[in-house]
Amino acid sequence: MRVTSVLVSIWIVLAGVAAAAPEASLRPVARDDGNAEPVQTALAAIRPMARPALHEASLAQQLTREFEGKADPGFQRALASQIGLTTRAFAALSPQATGLSIRPNLRPDSMVQRVMAQRRARSRGAICGDPDLQGETVGFVPGRLSACGIQDAVKVRSVSGIPLSQEALTDCPTAKALKSWVDKGVKPAIGTAGGGVSQIKVAAHYACRTRNNQPGARISEHGRGRAIDISGFRLRDGSEITLVQDWGRRETGAMLRKMHQRACGIFGTVLGPDSDRFHKDHFHFDTARYRNGAFCR
Ligand SMILES: [Zn+2]
Repeated sequence: MRVTSVLVSIWIVLAGVAAAAPEASLRPVARDDGNAEPVQTALAAIRPMARPALHEASLAQQLTREFEGKADPGFQRALASQIGLTTRAFAALSPQATGLSIRPNLRPDSMVQRVMAQRRARSRGAICGDPDLQGETVGFVPGRLSACGIQDAVKVRSVSGIPLSQEALTDCPTAKALKSWVDKGVKPAIGTAGGGVSQIKVAAHYACRTRNNQPGARISEHGRGRAIDISGFRLRDGSEITLVQDWGRRETGAMLRKMHQRACGIFGTVLGPDSDRFHKDHFHFDTARYRNGAFCR
């Protein structure tokens, strides 16, 4: 009876943290494989960790300690079975659960280390609190004119794994909008054409200037770090899709129109080749908000 309640509480905690939850119900039946006694000892050792606040990493650590000197596959399988996890989910919880690894020749701890290193590298270069936005935090950028400048600027280097042709100086709302557009507009539109998109061509980002560089006009959103101009895309096979060449073409033009359409709403202002003579060769996106909703042309 006591064993059952111990198993139930461990199972509840593990089911919450394991990627693959067990479909089988708990079967605390003593298994006649000669491992029954060490299994009970291991379960008793894990017991104090069985709290709702239990973290996946600390569970893995705990299991790692349990497995030291007990790499016997029979023992581990029996423990996994008692806890009610699939062997795969159980192996994923601890790098020491070597006996349950699906590919025993590949050391699980080195795999775990590689994944952790990748995760650390991503979080190191993360900007705006998003690992999908890689770059550098810049902070305050003073403007040449009083209406220019950025309060909390970032330099965006890549977005959702796609590098930009040049680092773009923007604020975080604009960087985040760019990410939404890459995910919902660029990637679905290009798909697997040319092997998929490999680079986004940035024509302009921060610049303290008037709208369309016209004398006497208002300061552009570019002067506030809220705008970015995109002139095209490089694909993995080396080919390019550009606004100036492909807007009027059938297949690649359809991709660009889809991206233009998807940008509307993600950005407050979306201007393309059909808007005016200043935008024949690029998309202008900015995050300025208007009472009447997004302005897309
Ligand atoms: Zn622009």
